[in-house]
Amino acid sequence: MEVEYNVAQLLKSPIGATQHKSIEADIAVLDEDVELVSPVTGRVCLLRTDAGILVQGRVQAEVELACSRCLTPFVFSLAAAVEEEFRATGKFAVDNRASDEAEDTALVIDEHHVLDLGEVIRQQLLLALPIYPVCRSDCAGLCSQCGQNLNEGPCECTEEEDPRWSVLQRLRFSEESGEGVD
Ligand SMILES: [Zn+2]
Ligand SMILES: [Zn+2]
Repeated sequence: MEVEYNVAQLLKSPIGATQHKSIEADIAVLDEDVELVSPVTGRVCLLRTDAGILVQGRVQAEVELACSRCLTPFVFSLAAAVEEEFRATGKFAVDNRASDEAEDTALVIDEHHVLDLGEVIRQQLLLALPIYPVCRSDCAGLCSQCGQNLNEGPCECTEEEDPRWSVLQRLRFSEESGEGVD
């Protein structure tokens, strides 16, 4: 995802200086099997801190998911908050940090003063994916017997006898025969 800002000007500014950016990025694939069907849009505020730049904002995008009940693909609106501090390097680096400190390289502003927000946005949108997506809150799902999509109407199986009756009938049978069930 290409969401890059040259922040040289902001790094030269005093601590507390801010810049506001709107995001509009075209990416098709968020992850192996997660496809976006809209651009990623949003707004972020870049704040100069002592160590680099704090990015805060919100992004949203539409993604195509399969309903966990009826398996039908549908469009879901993803929204995620972004809040990460990117560390300055090179001439803007803060000296009082160990240079060999283990760090997330996605959160480093490179030597050309380019802050790349792409990976952070991708990860936050992935975290916002629902575990059990449903096409609508009252989705009726599929019939467990014949697999018919019950949102499209009832299937033949709905006439079946109430399973609670068959349990009672089995109990009565086992009493009469003097043997346990089975
Ligand atoms: Zn559904
Ligand atoms: Zn059925």
